[in-house]
Amino acid sequence: METIPMINEKQALSDAGHKVHLLNLEFDDLEKWVQSIGQPKFRGKQIFQWLYVDRVTDFDAMSNLPQKLREQLKETATINTMREVTRQVSTDGTIKWLWELYDGSTIETVLMRHDYGNSVCVSSQVGCRMGCTFCASTLGGLVRNLTGGEVVEQLLNVQRFLDSAAEEQERVSSVVLMGSGEPMENYDEVMKFVDIINDQNGLKIGARHITISTSGLVPAIRRLADEKRQITMAISLHATRDEIRSALMPINRRWGIDELLESCRYYIRQTGRRISFEYALVGGQNDDLAHARELAGLLTNIDCHVNLIPVNYVPERNYTRTPKDQIRAFVNELNRLGVNATVRREKGHDIAAACGQLRAEQGRI
Ligand code: SF4
Repeated sequence: METIPMINEKQALSDAGHKVHLLNLEFDDLEKWVQSIGQPKFRGKQIFQWLYVDRVTDFDAMSNLPQKLREQLKETATINTMREVTRQVSTDGTIKWLWELYDGSTIETVLMRHDYGNSVCVSSQVGCRMGCTFCASTLGGLVRNLTGGEVVEQLLNVQRFLDSAAEEQERVSSVVLMGSGEPMENYDEVMKFVDIINDQNGLKIGARHITISTSGLVPAIRRLADEKRQITMAISLHATRDEIRSALMPINRRWGIDELLESCRYYIRQTGRRISFEYALVGGQNDDLAHARELAGLLTNIDCHVNLIPVNYVPERNYTRTPKDQIRAFVNELNRLGVNATVRREKGHDIAAACGQLRAEQGRI
């Protein structure tokens, strides 16, 4: 593991407080904004392409804009609102960044390299108030929602890293909203993020390559279902009985397992998309064969895939990991009962890869 401290010092964080963050504007809004500062509409498209196709970080690099407009942009707008505090590089190629935002808050972003492409896990909130007991992100509670632009900037920073590090062009091929925060609590900004990275004038990351993970905010799942966006929905299920799930995830006291699974069926009906269920195996709590059978029973007739995740070690919590042969037995039992299930290949196990861990380690909560 390699830790590289404090780079990008010179990015002026205070700028974001009073300037327009261009990454927070969807294509149409950018066109409207350039018109509002007295520029023709087509300048919006040019700037959007500089941001997402050329991925420049400096207005002076926008060479087809008149000098006067570039000066105007420097005075009124910004592209960079976060600076890198530290990054950790795993032996398996996973990289985790800790960013400081303009107000001093910190968030994490992770790049995972798979055989099928590069996947980026972004944060949607500073901290989280959902209180899942296996998660470091919630230890200090919720600080604030991120803007859509701050979520875009995480992704763009990673894409720029790939642009500079790779010999051949490497792209971010998929995005998961599984970092710090409950994305469905920050619905409008998260959908703005989705629309911006989806835009055909820019990054063109398709909805099917975007996964939103939720702890189970039932009304938001139904709202997203009605929008029929083709996004992959990942539900953090983690238990088969309400009393166990409520102990692990307080949100279950508001919307229990039955109501949650009913909203999943609705999502599938509305979108035609298969659901992904996340199930963290917590030693001695939800990981024996009886739980596997109960899980198979709950998921009967739901078009889904189950991701089994050996629980991450969080120093502040006292969970034990399920032994490997027991994990194998669990997945075999699910498969035997007709449930698509796999054990997630762990990435970045030698770094603080669980969400919120690097932030906690750095004393930033
Ligand atoms: S698992 Fe997700 S929803 Fe639960 S506390 Fe952590 S960040 Fe929040």
